[in-house]
Amino acid sequence: MSLFASVEMTPGDPILGLTEAFVADSRPGKVNLGVGIYYDETGRIPLLRAVREVEEALAREAKPRGYLPIDGLPAYNQATQKLVFGAESPLLAAGRVATSQTIGGSGALRVGAELLRKALPKAKVVISSPSWENHRVVFNAAGFDVVDYAYYDAATHGLDFAGMLADLGKLEPGTVVLLHACCHNPTGVDLSAEQWKQVVALVKDRGLLPFIDMAYQGFDKGIDADATAVRLFAESGIESFVVANSYSKSFSLYGERVGALSIVGANREEALRVQSLVKRIIRSIYSSPSTHGGALVAGVLNSAELRALWEQELTEMRERIHAMRAGMVQGLAAQGAAQFGFIQQQAGMFSYSGLSKAQVDRLREEHAIYAIGTGRICVAALNRGNLDNVVAAVAAVIR
Ligand code: PMP
Repeated sequence: MSLFASVEMTPGDPILGLTEAFVADSRPGKVNLGVGIYYDETGRIPLLRAVREVEEALAREAKPRGYLPIDGLPAYNQATQKLVFGAESPLLAAGRVATSQTIGGSGALRVGAELLRKALPKAKVVISSPSWENHRVVFNAAGFDVVDYAYYDAATHGLDFAGMLADLGKLEPGTVVLLHACCHNPTGVDLSAEQWKQVVALVKDRGLLPFIDMAYQGFDKGIDADATAVRLFAESGIESFVVANSYSKSFSLYGERVGALSIVGANREEALRVQSLVKRIIRSIYSSPSTHGGALVAGVLNSAELRALWEQELTEMRERIHAMRAGMVQGLAAQGAAQFGFIQQQAGMFSYSGLSKAQVDRLREEHAIYAIGTGRICVAALNRGNLDNVVAAVAAVIR
């Protein structure tokens, strides 16, 4: 009898399963809107020019590949702090932020979850309903009970703000509240700056611990505007909070696994103490992050010229997404489906399209257009070449 005989088959990730079915589909003109990746106008994952310049310089230098420190490349962490909190942030000046380069945003979430489990062993974690599926998985894996707070309102395709405030208002002090900084995955529904102010006040008032996930900075309004939530928490006087950020999308470096975890403490001494625990946790999981992706991001962010080029490329990606949203709404309206205007109000790569599971099935079976059963579509997978097809197919399945 094998020692692994008791291991049962674990269900696979539904999104990855969808991609396998898409790859196996031989119909011409097929479109995969199920992905969580930004594709350019030619349907490819871009390699940003700013990234390429650093990569070519690195190849010329041909440096040895020693280990990075446990918490990563200092130049990467410093640049990350400025991007996330703002270069002039008083928190940075006071030394209250401890940042670690992590294995993607996912690594930041998991290391952050492990830290909170040690610091607040009795706490609960709350996530938005719905949230990125992996949020629940990561916090459960770290040993937390995870509950939902109201967020998406299917009737309006927008935010159930009253429900959100009511749910957050009932939480015990010390509860960890996971918040999407911008470009909410999967719905595309974000809070306005005014709504953020109310959430920050409530979180402060009730003594909750905000854990902000920022995986799409720069994909809606711009680098600073998309960090509004982080900046408002920083100004609020709240002593402790956590930010996980990812460069997977903003640098188009998915497989390089570039992210960071930033812990805000009450003062410099506390930040150092917490960082010592973060390092112990990282050491026990993967020891230290990888060199290449970190060097690419640090190389871009620490060069005035390349940073300007990156911002221009990020703007191009953002504007292309906005154009695809507008194109979809106008296209559907022209086909007599005027009810999709909300797609233009939503932000980032995704939209909860409001399509039912049965309509999504028809899109796939009859039109070779792949989307997730919840109706989430990746707007960043649309382009001028496939938009008309997608619009016509959606118009057909809602009839
Ligand atoms: N948070 C959210 C909301 C995400 O959508 C993602 C990636 N899809 C991540 C975190 C993880 O980012 P990474 O790919 O850098 O691990």
